[in-house]
Amino acid sequence: MAKSPEVKLAVFGRAGVGKSALVVRFLTKRFIWEYDPTLESTYRHQANIDDEPVSMEILDTAGQEDVLQRESHMRWGDGFILVYDITDRGSFEDVAPLKGLLEDLKRPKHVPLVLLGNKADLEHARQVGTAEGERLAADMACAFYECSACSDAVGSGGGVAEAFYELCREIRRR
Ligand code: GDP
Ligand code: MG
Repeated sequence: MAKSPEVKLAVFGRAGVGKSALVVRFLTKRFIWEYDPTLESTYRHQANIDDEPVSMEILDTAGQEDVLQRESHMRWGDGFILVYDITDRGSFEDVAPLKGLLEDLKRPKHVPLVLLGNKADLEHARQVGTAEGERLAADMACAFYECSACSDAVGSGGGVAEAFYELCREIRRR
């Protein structure tokens, strides 16, 4: 049997935006409230996306690494999920600089990206409008999702898994 292509996905974003919760949600369909925020983990996952098998290696970054560590994570990845928290404007403002760093490092290659606004279940505490997320994604020429690590029932566009799948498709298209 042919080996399925392997893609390396890295999840970036300010500490506390829900990177670990999202990765675990994607892998287990469960929500777990607390993770060690200093922990950095990699996971392997197999899926069929549009009837093609894909092997993923997923790096859940801690969001507080130093410049050198961050650069090595960026070099490692084939594609990136940039996460912010819709209830934390500062986390949204962190996204564009991250994208800038990625472009500098990966130049002249096109960098496969997905923008993800997490914690869409906390509508009452929202600080970043959906339209702002859409605009940023348009600037970065990437897909955009709002979702929640708590539930696939809130947010736009098919939940957490869809964001990971779309990133795999984007890598495949490169
Ligand atoms: P990380 O530092 O980016 O890995 O963030 P964590 O995954 O550790 O999550 C930080 C905090 O936000 C934890 O208390 C989580 O329970 C909470 N959290 C993560 N995702 C969501 C979400 O979608 N909705 C809500 N309400 N809380 C979330
Ligand atoms: Mg974490």
